[in-house]
Amino acid sequence: MALLEEKNTEVTEQLVKEKEKAFLEFIQAKGLKTTRQRSTIVSTFFKLHGHISVEELLREVKKVNPKIGYATVYRTLHLLVESSLVEERRFGDGLARYEGRSEVEHHDHMICTECGHIFEFYNPHLEALQEKLAEENNFKIFRHRLELYGVCKDADTCGRRKQSKANKHTS
Ligand SMILES: [Zn+2]
Ligand SMILES: [Zn+2]
Repeated sequence: MALLEEKNTEVTEQLVKEKEKAFLEFIQAKGLKTTRQRSTIVSTFFKLHGHISVEELLREVKKVNPKIGYATVYRTLHLLVESSLVEERRFGDGLARYEGRSEVEHHDHMICTECGHIFEFYNPHLEALQEKLAEENNFKIFRHRLELYGVCKDADTCGRRKQSKANKHTS
C-alpha cells in the first residue's frame, strides 16, 4: 500500500510542493524551526500513497537519509496530524497509520482482517443516507468514520497479499 506510485509524476510533484509549503507555514506559525530532516520526512511522506505506518515511512526516509531516526519521523508525523494535513487512522490491528489528507477527498474504508488490505470507497448515496438518518434523529454530523471489516472474496489474491506482508516482516 505504501508504495511510490508512478501514476502522474508532475501532479505528484506539484502536490508535494503545496503540502510542504502548507506545513512550513504551520511550523513557522508555531514558532518551530524547519530542519532539513523534517523536510525530508514531509516530502517523502507526501510522495507515498495510501495508509502509511511510522515503520513504513521510516524505511522510505532512510533511503534518502539513513541518519534520520524513528523518533524524528514519529514527531514529524504528529506535527503533520496537528497541522491537519494528515489524518491518523487506526484499523483493526491497532497500528497507527497516516493518510495525506486532500490527496483523496473524503472516503471510507473496508479492511480485510486476513491480509490487512485496505479498500477505499466513496458512495454519495451512503453519504446522503447518513445525513438523512441524522436529520431524522435531530442530529448534526460534523464528521464520520466508516470502517467495514471482512475478508477479500478472492482467496488467491488475499493469500498472496498475506504472504508478501509476512515476507516483509521477516526480512
Ligand atoms: Zn484511506
Ligand atoms: Zn484479504
